[in-house]
Amino acid sequence: MSHPLSQIASEAPFVARHVGPRDDEIAKMLDAVGYDSLDALVDAAVPDAIRSVGALDLPPASTEIEALDELRALSRRNQRHTQMIGLGYYDTVTPPVVVRRVLESPAWYTAYTPYQPEISQGRLEALLNFQTMVSDLVGLPTANASLLDEATAAAEAMTLMRRSIRSKTADTVVVDADCLPQTIAVIRTRAEPLGIGVVVADLDQPLPDGDVFGVVVQYPGASGRVRDLRPVIEAAHERGALVTVAADLLALTLLTPPGEQGADVVVGSSQRFGVPLGYGGPHAGYMAVRAGLERGLPGRLVGVSRDAAGAQAYRLALQTREQHIRREKATSNICTAQVLLAVVASMYAVWHGPEGLREIARRAHRHAVELATALRAGGVEVVHDAFFDTVLARMPGRAEAVVADAAELRVNLGLAGADLVRIACDEVTTDADVARVLRAFGITPEPAQGRGDGDEHDAIPAELRRTSGYLTHPVFNTHRSETSMLRYLRRLADKDYALDRGMIPLGSCTMKLNAATEMEPITWPGFAGIHPFAPVEQADGYLAMIRQLEGWLATVTGYDAVSIQPNAGSQGELAGLLAIRAYHRSNGDDQRDVCLIPSSAHGTNAASAVMAGMRVVVVAAADDGTVDLDDLRAKLDEHPDRLAAIMITYPSTHGVYEEGVTEIARLVHEAGGQVYVDGANLNALVGLAKPGEFGADVSHLNLHKTFCIPHGGGGPGVGPIGVRAHLSPFLPNHPMLPEAGPATGVGPIAAAPFGSASILPIPWAYIRMMGPDGLKLATQTAVLNANYVAARLREHFPVLYTGRGGLVAHECIVDLRPLTKASGVTVDDVAKRLIDYGFHAPTMSFPVAGTLMIEPTESEDKGELDRFCDAMIAIRAEADKVASGEWAADDNPLVNAPHPASSLVAEWSHPYDRATAVHPSPSSREDKYWPPVGRIDGAYGDRHLVCACPPPEAFQD
Ligand SMILES: *Cc1c(COP(=O)(O)O)cnc(C)c1O
Repeated sequence: MSHPLSQIASEAPFVARHVGPRDDEIAKMLDAVGYDSLDALVDAAVPDAIRSVGALDLPPASTEIEALDELRALSRRNQRHTQMIGLGYYDTVTPPVVVRRVLESPAWYTAYTPYQPEISQGRLEALLNFQTMVSDLVGLPTANASLLDEATAAAEAMTLMRRSIRSKTADTVVVDADCLPQTIAVIRTRAEPLGIGVVVADLDQPLPDGDVFGVVVQYPGASGRVRDLRPVIEAAHERGALVTVAADLLALTLLTPPGEQGADVVVGSSQRFGVPLGYGGPHAGYMAVRAGLERGLPGRLVGVSRDAAGAQAYRLALQTREQHIRREKATSNICTAQVLLAVVASMYAVWHGPEGLREIARRAHRHAVELATALRAGGVEVVHDAFFDTVLARMPGRAEAVVADAAELRVNLGLAGADLVRIACDEVTTDADVARVLRAFGITPEPAQGRGDGDEHDAIPAELRRTSGYLTHPVFNTHRSETSMLRYLRRLADKDYALDRGMIPLGSCTMKLNAATEMEPITWPGFAGIHPFAPVEQADGYLAMIRQLEGWLATVTGYDAVSIQPNAGSQGELAGLLAIRAYHRSNGDDQRDVCLIPSSAHGTNAASAVMAGMRVVVVAAADDGTVDLDDLRAKLDEHPDRLAAIMITYPSTHGVYEEGVTEIARLVHEAGGQVYVDGANLNALVGLAKPGEFGADVSHLNLHKTFCIPHGGGGPGVGPIGVRAHLSPFLPNHPMLPEAGPATGVGPIAAAPFGSASILPIPWAYIRMMGPDGLKLATQTAVLNANYVAARLREHFPVLYTGRGGLVAHECIVDLRPLTKASGVTVDDVAKRLIDYGFHAPTMSFPVAGTLMIEPTESEDKGELDRFCDAMIAIRAEADKVASGEWAADDNPLVNAPHPASSLVAEWSHPYDRATAVHPSPSSREDKYWPPVGRIDGAYGDRHLVCACPPPEAFQD
């Protein structure tokens, strides 16, 4: 027997922690699949044409301790100053109970997107709290369950406004000159390919001429100024345009909310609600809309529905807006969002409640007022009379010197031009901080004046003081003691199924181990406390880590350059396609706008192509699941000069290594197109093949799939792109930081220069601890595990597609359609019945309706794979009983699944007993996961749309 794991682990001990199966299990599984070594298996499965030669050129694996030591040294190279730069990023305190029980708790961070609502009621409730919090604070009825950041949320609002107005010709968006600079820049990046004109204007002046469909205003402005929004909103509405307000949630505890002033859309960031700065992310963006616009919302939306017994239950609502269903007609390409951070922000509101938030806001405001008063007393002009937490000081010709003096005192201020200094106060600002700022201005601070209680509105004009209530729901008014909060968080977590309970065999989503060592650094102050616009020399450790990681990712993928700015796979797709677009334009090929996409592609691909200004042309799949080469040739002939790109996934979403990929790339290149390889399936390639070497020009990777960033219940993610040299001038960049990308780049794709920088230690540590041999072993084991599952299930469910040697890649699709035809049992029934057996369902009906896609990953051992296969086989036998008539088609354990505890104590009249319902297997007896609700009626929730916390009485019946 060979010992691949122990051989590698003797040099790289972490590999034996990450890879699930032991050597003897690997041997048994190889036997079952019919190969005598892992090398022989992958030699058979992976086409020679794409195989890379030699080991990855990466540093040899470190131990877990060494990796942490290196990361700690990097974090210490970052300098933490008091951060008073503002511009949408503020220091904040994550309540320690939330750090320990949410941010650092695998029960929350290893959960998957709540597509299976019956096992996701905890996080769905947390997200409903988030939606309620946003909706209350902004004063609009419907908020979604998070977006990627404030700037992209504003860009999404721009397209929402354009879709929602009557005029089909209006093509101009007017953007307040006092918007955050990164927001303006991201709006420009997004507007250009769509043919939208962006006019940045001073909104004290009348709205500029032009066919305006929308206006974007910042509230309070980037300069700190608080303005009455009503005149702008009325003027815009008179012109037939809609208005988006980018608003600060903390300010809205004191200010009249935009919804009450007539805004149609409100967007922003929830970062300052307890989410660390983290050098720019991840943070949860938000969007809320007025009545009538909810069907145009991008991203996920949690709604209230009911289960089979009529009990209230939560689920994702209005999914037909989303890319996974609507594809190129979707409201947006967004898929992975920022669930974990939205949960943190919502829990910050649960913990502090309305009075607590108001007190935090008042304190920030009071410090800003004191600062303004002392500056004025010291002879410094304060530009705006009305402000919330940010003061703009005029220092003719001396602004830079003041900012430098403050930096000497370890305070970062904002430089707002040669004459202006911006000073933002926040939750953590102290009197001593205010004194240090004054010293930088050369002012000796007076001892603090007595502060009355009524002074909180000092710089907020009377007509803009908030009078309406918010966060009145009991959930925001109950958990004030840590005991109560601890139990609330535990109660929600207990409702959910995450990787800390068992396998999540999701095809396409690579739910592998997120090791504790990888996770540990993200809350370290040296990483968490850095403002994204801090002077670059203060982020030396971050830059070193980012450059190293980009280099390693380039090595793994065979590309020449990598940008880690995109903060999800969808954003990487857009960045990659924009690079292709810019490349064609640089060659004078402006007309190349056709993007070929195989019918089996992930929904984000088509939605991203539309956002990049391309036309989607679908290429058919052949019967064996591969791209139909004849159809490809036909499509290439149809668009001789218009071809921009093909977007393929490799291995394909059908779970096989296609032989034809090099031929596809050759044909497309010959036709003048570029080849985009969606790299979300890189877990089947690392160490075996490199897209940059087998014909692709650009790929995005999903670090939240292949490289161990946990899914967080639906985010955060990182979707870096790798490109070949000719595309590298067109990578994303950032107006605030030249180091973020090439000057010739396409502009920023995310608000922060390095996107979700604070979670990059996770993939860094993974690559560092696995080393070249460990990474390859992980891929080989992932392929083995998938083939083992396929081999075990094959005689019970047909495996839909296979490649060379009858093998699959890292995932397999099992076909339930014959079973459905014979018994009426559907994919849904099987997925829900798996819950009774203690499993999360595989991916349902993607990419083929009526099938399940299973990706076990290398982290699951043989015991867990067998437990899963046993459950699937037992379910097959149950379906046979339905087919034979032993159980009625409309009353059997499958159609009634899942069975919550409440179903046992209700009247029982089913043709099977209670034990069959809830203890169908030995493991479901020993370690029972109880779904808190029964099968949820999705359609009911969409017909009766409720997207905020229902009143407690609603739960009583
Ligand atoms: C997950 C996935 C995406 C989208 O990535 P997000 O980070 O969710 O935006 C794109 N393509 C494929 C094949 C995927 O599996």
